[in-house]
Amino acid sequence: MLNPNLTTDRPTFVTHLECSLTGERYEADRLHGLSSAGRPLLVRYDLPAIKASLPKAMLEARPTDLWRWRELLPVRRTSDIVSLGEIETPLIPLTRSGGPNVLVKDEGRLPTGSFKARGLVMAVAMAKALGVTKIAMPTNGNAGAALAAYATRCGIETIVFCPDDTPEINVREIAVQGARVYRVNGLIDDCGAIVGRGAAQGLWFDFSTLKEPYRIEGKKTMGLELAAQFGWQLPQAIFYPTGGGTGLIGMWKAFDELEQLGWIGPERPRMYAVQASGCAPIVRAFDEGVEHAERWEDAATVAAGIRVPKAVGDFLILRAVRESGGKAMAVGDPAILQAVDDAAKKDGLLLCPEGGATLAAYREALRLGWIDEDESAVLFNCATGLKYPMPPANAKVDRHTEIDLAAL
Ligand SMILES: *Cc1c(COP(=O)(O)O)cnc(C)c1O
Repeated sequence: MLNPNLTTDRPTFVTHLECSLTGERYEADRLHGLSSAGRPLLVRYDLPAIKASLPKAMLEARPTDLWRWRELLPVRRTSDIVSLGEIETPLIPLTRSGGPNVLVKDEGRLPTGSFKARGLVMAVAMAKALGVTKIAMPTNGNAGAALAAYATRCGIETIVFCPDDTPEINVREIAVQGARVYRVNGLIDDCGAIVGRGAAQGLWFDFSTLKEPYRIEGKKTMGLELAAQFGWQLPQAIFYPTGGGTGLIGMWKAFDELEQLGWIGPERPRMYAVQASGCAPIVRAFDEGVEHAERWEDAATVAAGIRVPKAVGDFLILRAVRESGGKAMAVGDPAILQAVDDAAKKDGLLLCPEGGATLAAYREALRLGWIDEDESAVLFNCATGLKYPMPPANAKVDRHTEIDLAAL
């Protein structure tokens, strides 16, 4: 059966783009990077017109994938959508290792096995629409994989730079999905500097986190989905593993747009930005009460996806966390690994380390009395646990000898 979300043209409502720091306006339907102030651009919509043209019941009657939200997304022409099947991800109770009101939004089920697919499916569609033919990106792994998959699918050339200790499986999946991938002896912002140099020379378009406007719009769908899944309310707390913060910023934007549509009220979840204690620039800035985060030196953590020493959207993350009454929290690698192990052994759900970080943070928040067990909490498992190293399992039986079956 053809999915009408992917075959039917629908009205679109983008009016302009806006600098997230200064509010300066930028024209829609043009290729943009950062604003002239060097900050991310946000896409703005004619929300009253959306409200008039999209009754909630019409939305609810559509198949529940990412493209049901077309009116709230920037892609104008259906033919620019390069889909690999962006499903609505399920909410999985984590009763034993989490608690009675803990749900995991399991993003590992998306194409390329991570929530980077949400951002990149949108950014690539817009790049295609705007005539981009060559893209470069720094990545800790999953973003590069999603970019490679979607860009290859529509014939856009991609060059990807990753830290040289990026998990082997990520480097290989990027390569096999058609990108040229290079390992760099440095961290993600060092890779970003190389991408920036080539972009300045006009060699390629810079797809770094938040340096093009549309990844936020893709990640925003996490917030839209949560609202729909919670029956047009929202959970009381969200624990989000924060690297560049695209998802946290996107969800915060989604809630605002939904309120303007009249689909949710003014209540918001407390947003908990979760980082690893070996790389916690946002947590440090949060604790110091400042608006921007300094670069974190010598960043190191098992949770590669949140090893981001410097985020261009730092002030947007901090604002959302503070406005929501949430916190920025750091958790150590041992707590992260323990959480991954517990979720797998007690609840049968294999989390990625970054997802494990959200469970570790939830437990810490519980211990500190920042959250009550009765409150609904959503943890983001941002990638499939299958991409990451697992403890060895080497037990054997010799079928040529007597096996003590009862002892197995
Ligand atoms: C990218 C990534 C993150 C961080 O997401 P942001 O929205 O950029 O903060 C967390 N975990 C994994 C597995 C990732 O790939």
